[in-house]
Amino acid sequence: MALLITHKCTNCDMCLPECPNEAISIGDEIYVIDPILCTECVGHYDTPTCQKVCPITNCIKPDPDHQETEEQLWERFVMIHHADKLEG
Ligand code: SF4
Ligand code: SF4
Repeated sequence: MALLITHKCTNCDMCLPECPNEAISIGDEIYVIDPILCTECVGHYDTPTCQKVCPITNCIKPDPDHQETEEQLWERFVMIHHADKLEG
């Protein structure tokens, strides 16, 4: 499942540099996660690192509109990082 940044976000910038997939960016009002790039940190960490570093409790939550199986998240991880290698 991709994760979602809620309006509790204070734009502190702690999460953005920590995402291994560069899925987080600065949105119009708050930081946003691209659900196409979020693997819930599968392939990199045991738990979602953005949730770990975010200082606001329950600010980053599972995105109910983007529910994937662990297998799909692994496939996404391979796709993203295989593409990185091709781009060199
Ligand atoms: Fe990035 Fe991991 Fe957070 Fe998804 S869960 S946005 S991959 S840090
Ligand atoms: Fe927003 Fe939390 Fe990211 Fe800070 S760490 S920018 S509060 S989502």
